[in-house]
Amino acid sequence: MHFRGEEKTVDAMALFLEEPDRALRQEAWERIAARRLQDVDKVEEIFERLLDLRTRIARNAGFEDYRDYAFRRLGRFDYSAADCLEFHASIERTVVPALKHLQARRSEQLGLFPLRPWDGAVDPLGRPPLRPFKNVAGLVAGSQRVFDQLDSGLGAGFQLMQDQRLLDLANREGKAPGGFQTALREARLPFIFMNAVGQQRDVETILHEAGHAFHTLAARERDLDAYRSAPIEFCEVASMSMELLGNEFIEEFYSPAEARRARRKHLEGIVRILTWVPVVDAFQHWVYTHPGHSRTERSAEWIRLLDRFGDVDWSGLEEQRAASWHRVLHLFVVPFYFVEYGIAQLGALQVWANSKRDKAGAMSDYKAALALGGSRPLPELFAAAGCRFRFDQATIAPLVEMLEAELRLLGHSQ
Ligand SMILES: [Zn+2]
Repeated sequence: MHFRGEEKTVDAMALFLEEPDRALRQEAWERIAARRLQDVDKVEEIFERLLDLRTRIARNAGFEDYRDYAFRRLGRFDYSAADCLEFHASIERTVVPALKHLQARRSEQLGLFPLRPWDGAVDPLGRPPLRPFKNVAGLVAGSQRVFDQLDSGLGAGFQLMQDQRLLDLANREGKAPGGFQTALREARLPFIFMNAVGQQRDVETILHEAGHAFHTLAARERDLDAYRSAPIEFCEVASMSMELLGNEFIEEFYSPAEARRARRKHLEGIVRILTWVPVVDAFQHWVYTHPGHSRTERSAEWIRLLDRFGDVDWSGLEEQRAASWHRVLHLFVVPFYFVEYGIAQLGALQVWANSKRDKAGAMSDYKAALALGGSRPLPELFAAAGCRFRFDQATIAPLVEMLEAELRLLGHSQ
């Protein structure tokens, strides 16, 4: 799209949303929204075709609706649609109030009442972005020091990845975007690919992907190939736990004040993810169990869910808001794949809570659970890591209290 005399992609436009100048970020936000609105009918039609096809696939396979089919296809043997609905309800009661506190704090710091959709990404104190390292050598060296302090075994694993050239971290011209860990299955070794440019997000990414890599290394001795990787709900416990555990040592990248700011941003991100996952997940539950619904009913449900899980003020932008689910790629490409991130986050927060009580014990449970690979069902993998595979309020409420307490501690200097 064209913006201020230049041709920009939507990703490039997102940078303007961090702009301290509110008028500029509002203008950028409105341009993105306007571009999306141009294709509203086309996107709705594509979705309706998918809806129709998916419903027929489910019926042909003998299922009552596509949700039942999708749960079976995704191999969800350890939790049901009803468990997901319980997860949504628990998040609403426990995490949404925490999100509202964060929004109120942001509103106050920015001096903006109410917050609008373009006020979410800017630093609330108008500071320039964090710059944790100058080049990839700095990222690798800092990460190595983090893992060495965390656990000698993990440190050795990361060192092995360096020695065997299993890291491709630098952004360069022509390189594919994104970041991921993958297993070189024959060699039974992990490989990390990413596009580091020197942002805070890059430190979070390397910690996350290293968690996946440690998982691959830990399970490499399993005889069966299928056991050398775990279900996604637990793979993300491995990676998200590493973000939290590794974050304890990010002074390797920052001054103490910067480290507090980075931690705060990370924890706020967790609160946001936990309240965003149920919006997208509950929407899919509704869509696939309400055959024959109209476009208007579908948007109304989306808006109801945004309100239910804590949103900012969209007055005057009703059309944009009703279509805002169009940007969630998962809804189109990988139906029902989303709640996994919420489930895994609950596991990761429990690993972190355990680590606060007993560092060595939590680390040894974490490593033992990783070593099981995919040889056990989810509840047993969670149990081995010292976590409960439960979605009730009693499990989630203490984790939210811990997050809020941590944010309060970090808040003094911010
Ligand atoms: Zn991951």
